[in-house]
Amino acid sequence: MTANIDNESLDIAKEQLWSEFVKYVDYLDQDGKDFVELAFYQMCDAHGLQRRKSGDFYILHPVRATITLCKIGLDKDTIAGCLLHDVPEDTEVTLAQIEKNFGREVAFLVSGVTKLGTVKYKGDQRYAENLRKMFVTMSQDLRVIFIKLADRLHNLETLEHLPREKQQRIALESLEIYAPIAERLGMGKLRGEIEDLVFPYLYPERYNEFIEMSALEINIRKEQVTSIIENLKVLLKKTHLSYENIHGRAKRYYSIYKKIVDREVDLEKMRDLVAIRIITNEVGECYEVLSMISREFEILPNSTKDYISHPKPNGYQSLHISVLDPATKVPFEIQIRTQHMHEFCEYGVAAHWAYKEGKSSKTQLLEPENLKWITELVELSEAKISDEEYLKKVKLDVFADRIFVLTPKNDVIDLKAGATVLDFAFMIHESIGSKAVMAKVNGNPVKLIHELQSGDMVEILTDKKQTPKPDWLNYVTTTQAAKKIRAILRKAGI
Ligand code: MN
Repeated sequence: MTANIDNESLDIAKEQLWSEFVKYVDYLDQDGKDFVELAFYQMCDAHGLQRRKSGDFYILHPVRATITLCKIGLDKDTIAGCLLHDVPEDTEVTLAQIEKNFGREVAFLVSGVTKLGTVKYKGDQRYAENLRKMFVTMSQDLRVIFIKLADRLHNLETLEHLPREKQQRIALESLEIYAPIAERLGMGKLRGEIEDLVFPYLYPERYNEFIEMSALEINIRKEQVTSIIENLKVLLKKTHLSYENIHGRAKRYYSIYKKIVDREVDLEKMRDLVAIRIITNEVGECYEVLSMISREFEILPNSTKDYISHPKPNGYQSLHISVLDPATKVPFEIQIRTQHMHEFCEYGVAAHWAYKEGKSSKTQLLEPENLKWITELVELSEAKISDEEYLKKVKLDVFADRIFVLTPKNDVIDLKAGATVLDFAFMIHESIGSKAVMAKVNGNPVKLIHELQSGDMVEILTDKKQTPKPDWLNYVTTTQAAKKIRAILRKAGI
């Protein structure tokens, strides 16, 4: 009797969930939609009457996680993989059956997520071993980590239903491992969401204090922002400048909190507590809007930052300028960027992935092999060091500064901050590194020892008579380049 009632309510939940979910996969073609529909129903059949700790049917969890990835516009294999991500571990359906029904790609993604498993953070010696596996899998296919992040995000959203000790462990792991990975992949939106979700669990007292203190201030700013936006709309119309969208956005709680603690900034003086964003259609319009703003508003001296020609290390691009509210004289930050830059700011590498599926060619693809920090993490995974040492190194590596530079073909190369022209040359290929004589950086001639900055466009000039010299070891900062140079020198008997 009860089973029948349960089955009925599962059927209802399933149909409700599908009608909600189907709206999010509208960007897929018909084949793609059919494919994910099949994955959806097979996932529902597999989990059946299983329930979450919250009392909800289990099927709710994979669907909510998948919606996060649909919003980025990821491909059908990733969507199906995320729907099925808990199936082999928690149900009778095997990985082999998933491979048979959905192909090798989906099976690989699901097995990648499954392998990352449920080992306890810090409470288990196997944790480091697990992390090693994770970076190896990531280096094979970044989509595994997209699914893992979406999975984690939904688990954090429902963390209240878990016992306190488990909450602490999951929250800490999310803050120390997953948030930095998301940041490194340029997925700022996800990073911010993860941090804000764990904040009350990790620092409940400071969180409450902070909410009380900031809520009022943020509300005042929001009102002021609304009036500045109206003002801006009129000016944009008057000057015939076209734009896609203009909106105000409150800074995330945890990042405000960190700024106050780390840099000792007063809440009242924070200019970007609520920022205004103007989204344009093309790059040229960003600069036109910027110059209109500098004409029409009172501007804070030295507040203009051009992250379009000098992107941040994780690829972030935008123009920033701080203006004074004409009525209250309170400073506000305005961020100007194109739609494409905006998507990249929010979704980073994942946005590139989505673009690659659709438009391809012109976008700068960040493939795992170009993300050198992942390769380095894999190399580290294979090194013979203690687990404790490994965890320490990973944290250092994931947090350490990186720069992104461009090849003449617009490929993005990821290097450690402080890397030189010669590091870059060896990163491209050993044959280019060993024949390098000088380079052009943004069109200007420079020496091999020249230190690169994020956003530099680097062209290496080679000479076939060139050979590596012993003092080249002083020109490089990466271990890979040094390793290659030493090997060549050894071979030549130097
Ligand atoms: Mn899950």
